[in-house]
Parts: sequence; C-alpha cells; structure tokens
Amino acid sequence: MFKRALLPLLLLALPSAFAETPPDWSKPQPAHRIAGNVSSVGTAELGCYLITGSQGHILLNTGLADSPPLILANLQSLGIDPKDIRILLTNQAHFDHVGGFAEMRQRTGAKVYATAGDAPLLRDGGASDPGGLSTFAPVRVDHVLKDGEVITLGDISLTVIATPGHTPGSVSYQMTVRQDGRDKTFLFANLPTVVMPLKNRKYPGIVKDLKASFRRLASLRPDLWVAAHASQCGLIQKFASGNFEDPRGYAAAVASCEAEFKTKLKAELGRP
Ligand SMILES: [Zn+2]
Repeated sequence: MFKRALLPLLLLALPSAFAETPPDWSKPQPAHRIAGNVSSVGTAELGCYLITGSQGHILLNTGLADSPPLILANLQSLGIDPKDIRILLTNQAHFDHVGGFAEMRQRTGAKVYATAGDAPLLRDGGASDPGGLSTFAPVRVDHVLKDGEVITLGDISLTVIATPGHTPGSVSYQMTVRQDGRDKTFLFANLPTVVMPLKNRKYPGIVKDLKASFRRLASLRPDLWVAAHASQCGLIQKFASGNFEDPRGYAAAVASCEAEFKTKLKAELGRP
C-alpha cells in the first residue's frame, strides 16, 4: 500500500522548477465521511478534511491553487455552507496543501491558524521555504498555534501536536471521535518526509526537529488516522473497505518514514 506513496513523495522532493504535479493531485474525489464528525473533502491525492461542529466547522488543508472548486463542490454535496467554516488549518505550508488557502479564506471568511514555524511561509507565499518548493498565493495568519494548544470551536476540541521537519512548522492534530458508541482517538498526521537537504543553512534545526517528530509520532496510538497525502494512509482503499481503524498501518507508516530519514541522514551527513 505504501509503495504507491513513493511517486508523489519523490516528485515533492524535486526542485520547484518542476512545476508539473501528478494528475491525481487535481483529480476530483467525492466527499466521504470517515468517522464521527470528520469527512474527507479533498482531491484523489491531496487530503483535505472537514471537522463539523455545533458552532461552525474547521477545514484542514486546501490543496493546490486549483483545488478550491473541487473542495467547494464536496462541501456542497455534504450540505455544508462554506460561510460556516470558521477556521482554516494546514499540516504543512507547502503549495500542495495551502495553495488554495487565500481563495478559501475569501470564500469562507474563516480565520487562518498556523504554527510559528509555518506562519512566515504562509505570509510570504512560500518564498522563505527552506526547501525552495513552488510558491503560492500569500495569506494572512490570524492566530499562531502553540504545541499542545487545544483549538476549541463549539463542541470541537482539537489538540495541536508539533511535528516539524517536513516544513519548519509541520504539525499534526488529534481529537476524539465517537464511533460505534465508543470514543476513539483520531490523528491528522503529518508524516515527516524529507524534501530538502539535511545540511541546510536555511533550516539549521532540521535534523533535531525530524528526530523529535519521529519520537513524538511513534509515541502516539491513534485508532484512526489520516495524512496530508491520501496515498500515505491508503485513504481511497479505506473508502472502499469502509474500515478506517488502522493502528498498525499508522505505526508502519511512521516506521517506514523514519527508515527513509535514517538512510538520507547517513548518505548526507555520514552519521545516524
Ligand atoms: Zn509538503
């Protein structure tokens, strides 16, 4: 299942001059309820997640610059008024997850919440990205998130889990969902794939950040999980099976990501 994830990840690792993105990234994917108040509203590959609540909703990730019409169509199919989205979040300030932020902010009137590490990238449209990936429309940041902060909106409580390294402010979020009469842990994971040099003058703390993020992610035990890329968590296959409980798949995805990081660390810095 995770071999399929390699192609988009390899493409992400290419320099920004390579502006072409895989067709799956812009391919429409019908909205799909995952569990409790969480639904997928993204494209066939770019994970965008809607968390509905009593006082408005949260949208996590907005895909590429061309994704908003697809997301808005998915929201409409769920009967969601875009104006009821109050908060926009991302897992990582890269063009394939925040390219649609400026437009979605305008269409929803939502506030943008971002970590201290990713806020500068959102504000300058990725110009300061230490990985030098494609730029995107800049967006105002209304609130800077802290590690461990609980984002509350009506009956939604979402905990911020800092997992930097893929970008300087990459972040995961965790919440409780009610499914089959039981409370379950749901993680919106940012898997720390390495898309820039590990010896990096623009991001001197990258190795330390990645090591800490792997420790952090390995310590979590989600019942259900999703990721910024659908292929990273087998999302489309899970739509087909209807089974989103996947604690083992989560542990395997983190371990395989960490093994890749260690290989790169040895190749680039000659040490573990
Ligand atoms: Zn990325």
